[in-house]
Amino acid sequence: MVKAEEVRRTGKKILYLNIGDPVKYGFDTPPNVKNALKKAVDAGSNYYAASEGVKDLRQAVAEKENSVNGAQIDPRNVMITQGISEAISFLMGAIVNPGDEVLLPGPSYSPYMTYVKFFDGKPVAYRTIEDRGWAPDLSDLVSKVTARTRLIVIINPSNPTGSVYSRNELSRILEIAASHHIPVAADEIYDRIVYDGAFTSLASIAKEVPLFGLNGFSKTYMMTGWRLGYLYRQDPGDEMKDVWDAVQRISRVRLCVSTPIQLAGIEALRGPQGHINEMVSKLKRRRDLIWKRANEIPGLFATKPAGAFYLFPRINEIGHRWKSDYEFVTELLRETGVLVVHGSGFDPMYGKDHFRAVFLPDETILTEAFDAIEDFMKRH
Ligand code: PLP
Repeated sequence: MVKAEEVRRTGKKILYLNIGDPVKYGFDTPPNVKNALKKAVDAGSNYYAASEGVKDLRQAVAEKENSVNGAQIDPRNVMITQGISEAISFLMGAIVNPGDEVLLPGPSYSPYMTYVKFFDGKPVAYRTIEDRGWAPDLSDLVSKVTARTRLIVIINPSNPTGSVYSRNELSRILEIAASHHIPVAADEIYDRIVYDGAFTSLASIAKEVPLFGLNGFSKTYMMTGWRLGYLYRQDPGDEMKDVWDAVQRISRVRLCVSTPIQLAGIEALRGPQGHINEMVSKLKRRRDLIWKRANEIPGLFATKPAGAFYLFPRINEIGHRWKSDYEFVTELLRETGVLVVHGSGFDPMYGKDHFRAVFLPDETILTEAFDAIEDFMKRH
């Protein structure tokens, strides 16, 4: 973004394909949710809420996860947070002691790595396999389990690859977790944004394995700037009681999440849901467009994203024409004004030689951007 600003100041138009924020690309927060926020403020709901969250919202979250995703959670095991971002920090703060290891998909949404390191833990990436649609490499995952492994994280659908894990892959991950007595965490923020076939929530098949679920309102309800999310625990054996107690203690330090925004969150979950299908069909057309365009460009190869709103193409010429993916995205920006994110930012090993482009912008902008990328590749 800093570099893009420099380039913009030279008079060049920037085409922003970098940030996963639907609201920045013309998707709007549903009107009933906006009204619920205004109503909550006018009605005087401007006080501190309980640190765990407003009771009705925790109830609505449990209802949604149980009915839509087949979870079995009690509202008492739901913690409302300022976006998933805060949920990640609570969970890592509660579970990671210095030297502990957390298994993360490679590549993955980078705050997971950052928070593990912040609490003096060690993020350990397990490989996901590009040629199999970025499916998890289960033998790599098993080989990286050690006595210090405290948590296995999955991000499904994935940022940055758009992969959606099959039920079978999820079951295998659960078997690994069960045999090593390790809890799992599933970030399912894109659970409603899938294009080809069904999504299986880890909670629906986790049975005895202790599970932390992370989800929120940013993407499905287009409430990115409102900062609302949640963490839940599905833990029939109560094995994670101490971790959950710690999560609750951490939550008290920041008092609470904005009360009126929580009240609007209840409306988001319980009100009309029609905007979700509308959004998904728009995004599906955009996904089809840029996936096709990317694969027609010599020197690029992209798997088809099955969920979320990111394309993660491989750049064949890294190591030859460009030293790194970082150099590639910088040069692309300077020459064309197209801003994408370098893949190594999502994992130095498993993300390198790639870039991430969002397909939230409309077809005209996407076409303009991919025309520019195509010219750039041909030129070089
Ligand atoms: N988790 C994943 C996988 C994401 O891609 C993002 C945002 O891009 C987030 C969490 C952040 O969510 P929130 O806005 O709820 O903090």
